[in-house]
Amino acid sequence: MTHEPAGIEQKTQAFLDRQNHRMLIDGQWVDALKNKRMQVVNPAEETVIGSIPSAHSDDVNKAVGCAKAALEQGAWGKMRPSGRQNLLLKLADLIERDARIIAELEAIDNGKSAAIAQAVDIGLGLEFFRYMAGWATKIEGSTLDVSMPFAPPEADFFAYTRREPVGVVAAIIPWNFPFLMACWKLAPALAAGCTVVLKPAEQTSLSALYLGELIAEANFPDGVVNIVTGDGQSTGSALITHPDINKISFTGSTQVGQLIGRAAMDNMARVTLELGGKSPMIVLEDCDPEKAAQGAAVAIFFNHGQTCSAGSRLYVHRSIFDTVVNRLAELAEAIPMGPGLDPAAQMGPLVSQVQLDRVCHYIETGCQEGARLVTGGERADRKGYYVKPTIFASEDDSLVIAREEIFGPVLVAIPFDDVDDVVERANDSRYGLAASIWSNDLSQVQRLIPRLKAGTVWVNGHNMLDSNVPFGGYKLSGVGRDMGKQSLDSYLETKSVFMAL
Ligand code: NAP
Ligand code: MG
Repeated sequence: MTHEPAGIEQKTQAFLDRQNHRMLIDGQWVDALKNKRMQVVNPAEETVIGSIPSAHSDDVNKAVGCAKAALEQGAWGKMRPSGRQNLLLKLADLIERDARIIAELEAIDNGKSAAIAQAVDIGLGLEFFRYMAGWATKIEGSTLDVSMPFAPPEADFFAYTRREPVGVVAAIIPWNFPFLMACWKLAPALAAGCTVVLKPAEQTSLSALYLGELIAEANFPDGVVNIVTGDGQSTGSALITHPDINKISFTGSTQVGQLIGRAAMDNMARVTLELGGKSPMIVLEDCDPEKAAQGAAVAIFFNHGQTCSAGSRLYVHRSIFDTVVNRLAELAEAIPMGPGLDPAAQMGPLVSQVQLDRVCHYIETGCQEGARLVTGGERADRKGYYVKPTIFASEDDSLVIAREEIFGPVLVAIPFDDVDDVVERANDSRYGLAASIWSNDLSQVQRLIPRLKAGTVWVNGHNMLDSNVPFGGYKLSGVGRDMGKQSLDSYLETKSVFMAL
C-alpha cells in the first residue's frame, strides 16, 4: 500500500527553498572560504535537494578562534549561571515551538518518520535542554580538610575545589539521530559554560543548521555555538587536531572513535566517545512470547535499525524460540514502509546509498554463512534506499552477521538452553553498549544484571532513554557518558585551591 506524503509546514519549505545553505561562525551565516559545497540528498526520493558548505581547515580555524574568543573575552565567560540557564530554557521553548519543522527536516534529510522524530528525537532533545538548564545553577565544588603532617602545629590552611568549564568543545555527531545528538552535546557543554564548534554528519546537516537559527534567535552571544559543515576527512580532522580544542565529544563508529581518541591525546584534549554496539536481547524461559516479540521488534526496527543500541542479537530460550521468532516475523512483515513525511509509515529508507549497500552486503553475507532467512532479506521494491525488515535465525553466534554492527534493520535470533551459557555468549563481543533482559523472575534478573558487560541494561524494555540516566559504553562501545549529571561533569575541569592562612 502506498500513501501520499502530507504537505509540509511553510517554514520548512522556506528553509528548504534556500537550497544553498550556510554555516554559522561567530554569529554570522557564511559560505566556506574556498566556496566548496556538498550535496544534500533526500533518501526517500534519491534526489539532490540542496547543498551545504564544505568547510576547509581555514574555516575550522576561524570557528575555533571565535569560540575561544567568546569564552575568554566575551559576555559568555562573565555570564552568571542563571543567565546560561535562562538561555537554555529559551532555546528549549523555541525548539518546542518549531518541533514539527525540525521533525520534517529530519524526515526529508535522514528518511526517518517525522511523526516519530517529533515525539522522540525532538521531544527528548528539548527535554534535555531543560534538564541541563537546571544543572547550570547547581555546579559546585567542595571544601577539603587538610592534614599537612609536615607543617608546624600552628599553621592553618584552607583548601577547596571549584568546577570550571573545560573550554572550547569540538562536537562531532553522526547521521542516525542528527538533531538529538546535537542536543546531547550542546546542552551539557553550554550548561557548563563552554563554547562549542559542532560538526554535523555530512549526510544530515539541515536540522543542526536550523538549530543554529534558534540559537541565534534565543540570543546566545556570538561565537558561543559555531556550526561547521563538511565531511570527516577534511572538516572533522581539522577540528579534532586543532590545538585550541580542549574537549572532543564524539558519537559515531568505533573505527573513527579510535582515531579521534588518539588525536585527542596529542593535545591532551578531554574526550568522550559514544561508539558502536551489537547489543544482546535475552529472553528467559518465563517471558510471554508475545511481549518478547513486540519488544524485539522495537529493539531492532526502531529508526530502521540505525541505532547504536539496537537489539541486533536476540537470544531466546529454546522452549519459546519458534513462537517468538515466528511472531516477530509477522510483526516485521506488517511494518508500513514509506517516506518520513507519510504519517502512516513506521519505517523509512536508510540514510544513504552507502548505508544501503553496506546493509545489503551484510544480508548477502548472512545467507552465504548459512543463517536461515526467516523474513525480509532484500531491498523493498520501490524508489528510495529501503530495506525490508530482515530476520535471520541461527544456532551459531560466531557468524559475521552476529558479531559485526550492521546498523540496519537486520536481526539474528539465536536459541539458548542455559542461562550461564547465554551470559557468556552475550558478553562475547568487542562491544558493550547495552543489553536487555526479558523476564519476570526478579531473582534471576537481579543475578544477571551485574554479570552483563554493558553500559546500560534494560529489563522488559529496550532503547529506553531519559535525560537523567547516563548512556554510554563498556569496551569498544566508548569512553564516558552522555546524559545525566555524568555528562555535565565531562564538560568541567576541577581546579584545586590551596591557601596558607
Ligand atoms: P562515522 O563515520 O564514525 O561518522 C560520525 C561522525 O564523524 C560524522 O560527523 C563524520 O563526518 C565524522 N568523521 C568521520 N571521519 C572522521 C575523521 N577522520 N575525523 C573527524 N571526524 C570524522 O559514523 P557514521 O557512519 O556517521 O554513523 C554510524 C556509526 O555511528 C555506527 O557504527 C554507530 O554505532 C555509531 N553510533 C554510535 C552512537 C552511540 O551513541 N554510541 C550513536 C549513533 C551512532 P561525515 O559523516 O560528515 O563525513
Ligand atoms: Mg540527507
